[in-house]
Amino acid sequence: MNRIGCHLSTAKGLEKTIAECLDINANTFQFFPRNPRGSKSREIPIDEIEKFLNLREKYDISDIVCHGAYTMNLCSDREDLRELAIRLINEDMKKIEDLHIDRYVLHPGSHKKQGLEAGMNQIISGLNQIDLPNDKMICIETMSGKGSEVGFDMSQIEYILKNCDIPLYVCIDTCHLFSSGIDIGKFDKYLDEFDEKIGVDKIKVIHLNDSMMPMNSNKDRHEKFGEGLIGDKNLLNAIFDNRLRDIPIILETPNDLNGYKKEIEYIRSRWNELQNGK
Ligand SMILES: [Zn+2]
Repeated sequence: MNRIGCHLSTAKGLEKTIAECLDINANTFQFFPRNPRGSKSREIPIDEIEKFLNLREKYDISDIVCHGAYTMNLCSDREDLRELAIRLINEDMKKIEDLHIDRYVLHPGSHKKQGLEAGMNQIISGLNQIDLPNDKMICIETMSGKGSEVGFDMSQIEYILKNCDIPLYVCIDTCHLFSSGIDIGKFDKYLDEFDEKIGVDKIKVIHLNDSMMPMNSNKDRHEKFGEGLIGDKNLLNAIFDNRLRDIPIILETPNDLNGYKKEIEYIRSRWNELQNGK
């Protein structure tokens, strides 16, 4: 099945994340390159990077995802904050190059009463100023549409991808899609439309979360796998769609490591049952 893992803290060093992956039976993971609610970034010593690269290879942990800080807003109504976001993303690009990480997830931003169109155009103009290293994939995340968030509708993601000068990809988040009004029970229809408008080959990361809030609520509250309003059957159906076969799955459910371990084991066991025709 797909690679699967969860969001992990790198506060205790990158080597620790590999040990944690092994503990919970994950073969990928996601991390923040800097404080997610601020802008501070830790300088990673070369020997830590080398150890990390070796361990990753040794234990076959790959398709690792770096998630940009929440505070960055490419479509802020303040120019200084838009410029800060561009600067931080450019710094993150250097970091993922050093760490040999290909996938970078980015929340598109919130337009702050400037209007959707103005917001989308600022996002495009900001992304055009990113010095994108070879083979790196910036994945725009699908959002729930809280406040003035951009990216809660497929047409917005399509507009940004089609009008940006750098190649862009997509991270789909099951909780955000659900709260933005997508019926996860009919996920094949969503993927049909996505393929027609954008192309499913653009999807490079799956955030797998259940939702505490109802469909179309535009409220972003992640729930443990199968314990929310989307439910385990619909979530499994969505992630096991053949078209998403090679895309890494990242759990961002409210869990400790043991909770993640249980979710990963459960999802793997359901996958094996499916392969054995049960
Ligand atoms: Zn996210």
